Amino acid sequence: MRIKVLTLFPEMFEPLKQSVLGRAMEKGLLSVEAIDIRAYTKDKHRRCDDYPFGGGAGMVMTPQPVCDAFRAALRGFPARRIYLSPRGAVLTQKRAMELAREEELLLLCGHYEGVDQRALDLYVDEEISIGDYVLTGGELAAMVLIDALARHVPGVLGSEESAEEESFMDGLLEYPQYTRPAEFEGLAVPELLRGGDHKKIRDWQREQALRLTQERRPDLFARKELDQRDRLLLGLEKPKEKKKRRKTAALREISPENSPEKACKTETDMV
Ligand code: SAM
Repeated sequence: MRIKVLTLFPEMFEPLKQSVLGRAMEKGLLSVEAIDIRAYTKDKHRRCDDYPFGGGAGMVMTPQPVCDAFRAALRGFPARRIYLSPRGAVLTQKRAMELAREEELLLLCGHYEGVDQRALDLYVDEEISIGDYVLTGGELAAMVLIDALARHVPGVLGSEESAEEESFMDGLLEYPQYTRPAEFEGLAVPELLRGGDHKKIRDWQREQALRLTQERRPDLFARKELDQRDRLLLGLEKPKEKKKRRKTAALREISPENSPEKACKTETDMV
């Protein structure tokens, strides 16, 4: 996947070269090119911002360098264009996974009070927010977006790191994780996880994920469709098996061999 980022601070993207994303870049699975918007300004003082029409505090990024940077970046690069903005739709795991399927992405980072609306109207396909708070610039938001979607690009995560079972993948938060030592500062890893019963372990993990989500993110939990196993794990439904067994046991009690008459007869016989 190839990503270009339009920014006034291209050096801010250096940290992406570390760890998992750094390895993905070395393997050629991901490329991130930060493009300096200032390099496109026609202002003789190299300015890229100006006072807002209508007054108000702060400066606004001027449309000329932003649009010229867009045009240059898009040459031979048919990318989906995203503006990182607190006014955008809040980023979700689902959207990150969808965007990971794009071959090219072009991200725009705002600064100051934001970007002149005409540049956005002309070039932006979509606005994405990383949460309901305001950052000083779009660079950290762009890095969050890149990190969240790169994890879903095939081959980016090693075999030991899987995106499959993480929080939000199934509409639930992840269950608690433990590693060695089995006991640490008086706290022990739950006994069940140390045994080899995989079915019990999967059930425990699922139940923990369900209960954590219910407690911490009731909004997510309300949207989650519980299947029969979930309802059983949460104690919302009684196991059918047991009911059946009880029913069978009851039938056995009143079956001809076990009927009270037979029992009496047998007793009488015995007498
Ligand atoms: N005046 C803008 C407003 O009230 O909506 C906020 C501008 S903010 C100080 C500067 C830049 O940071 C924005 O243009 C945007 O690119 C970025 N930004 C701020 N908060 C963000 C968020 N929650 N998600 C994504 N980008 C954000």
